[in-house]
Amino acid sequence: MKTPNFYASGGIDRAAHLRADEEWIKQQIEDRIARIVPIWRSQNLVQAGDTPVGVAVEANRGLLMGAGAVVFLGLVEDVPHFAADFSAYDDPPLEEHGQFRDMRGIGQLLPHQEGALLVYARATIQWHLRHQFCGVCGSATTSQDSGHMRKCTNADCAAQHFPRLDPAVIMLVHDGGDRLILGRQKNWPPGQHSVLAGFVEPGESLEDAVAREIFEEAGVEITDIHYHSSQPWPFPSSIMLGFMAQATSDVLNVDRDELEDARWFTRDDLLKSPENDAFRLPRRDSISRRLIEDWMNQ
Ligand SMILES: [Zn+2]
Repeated sequence: MKTPNFYASGGIDRAAHLRADEEWIKQQIEDRIARIVPIWRSQNLVQAGDTPVGVAVEANRGLLMGAGAVVFLGLVEDVPHFAADFSAYDDPPLEEHGQFRDMRGIGQLLPHQEGALLVYARATIQWHLRHQFCGVCGSATTSQDSGHMRKCTNADCAAQHFPRLDPAVIMLVHDGGDRLILGRQKNWPPGQHSVLAGFVEPGESLEDAVAREIFEEAGVEITDIHYHSSQPWPFPSSIMLGFMAQATSDVLNVDRDELEDARWFTRDDLLKSPENDAFRLPRRDSISRRLIEDWMNQ
């Protein structure tokens, strides 16, 4: 078994069979040492040292009553964890316990399981905030199943809405030998390069999307497409599906509207590259970095 990617396999038992059990959920909040994983305006409470993630419900029950969406995330070592949204507060609450920070900036610094739990909480709350109204009839929706479904309040519609994910493919394309293609977008941090990626479109298989995206962006056809691994990337709601593939030609025809640059790099280029404004590898918590490191080690 490969090491899981960042933000995956976070050691939480989602206990999905308990989500609809309102009595059990109520009891966890009233009787037990459940924990709140708070979100304030897309940011997670980040705590110092090896404090358990979140804050105890027991000491913060009043605060929890004033939360927006509350989502039962699951059990971590039998302790129920609830994501709770405090975005309506003018100032972030609970700051005596830590600081609210954007996981896009600091996720890579956290222990694996903590990072996975925090982005899971962030993603569920983001979904609630973006699905307050029914996409079918426009009426308000309300949270159900401990936050894992929203239902339209218009009785004639009653549409059920489930958390959505946007699948994106990300592919390391090599030449069958010692070179791979890396590119960069204009708005990225200086020097940062990555393998290429793009969203899956309706009516496409993942393999179709891999071939289309690399052809659109780098103008090269590929063969021998193999699935590698996947990664939750809830910024706001993607799942990254990682592939490796082999180019059938050396010649690239880069789409300069999409990319500032894309070109071939050798293993040696990467080994010798200092991290500076001319060249940087992708951030450590990304599947792009994982694909590159696995290819380097092949
Ligand atoms: Zn509706």
